[in-house]
Amino acid sequence: MRAASDEQLFMEALRGAPLAAPVAIGPGAGISARAPDGHGRVRGCCECGAAFRIRHGAGRLFCQKACKVAWENRYTVRGRQLMLLVMAARETRDGTRGKPAAKAAGRRAAQLARDAMQQWRDEDAAAGRASAADYFGLAWAMGYRQR
Ligand SMILES: [Zn+2]
Repeated sequence: MRAASDEQLFMEALRGAPLAAPVAIGPGAGISARAPDGHGRVRGCCECGAAFRIRHGAGRLFCQKACKVAWENRYTVRGRQLMLLVMAARETRDGTRGKPAAKAAGRRAAQLARDAMQQWRDEDAAAGRASAADYFGLAWAMGYRQR
């Protein structure tokens, strides 16, 4: 729960900001709220948490292009690290199928994948970024489909 003083600072900052300009304090990464001046809504940038105005039904998740690029670059790196582990774990059903060596590799891959995902989740939370689940939920609602 946000302290009252933060909320007041946020509303003051937003009140004088141009329509597209993000403000440092917001409702939280990925979270949208009614704009204090009644003109649409605001959302916390999924990357940096800064608040920016969104139009009704608008599909912006980031306050600026640099935030979108940072988000996508991080997920590209994470995806490369995770893909082999996830495939090995899935092929062996987390190390319960296949020959003994494959089972051992599958169990290890599954554990490494879980460890990496937990670490990234903690890093995102500490940095004030939206969680993967929050981001995906927003993107899905906006029509995201895997290409
Ligand atoms: Zn941002």
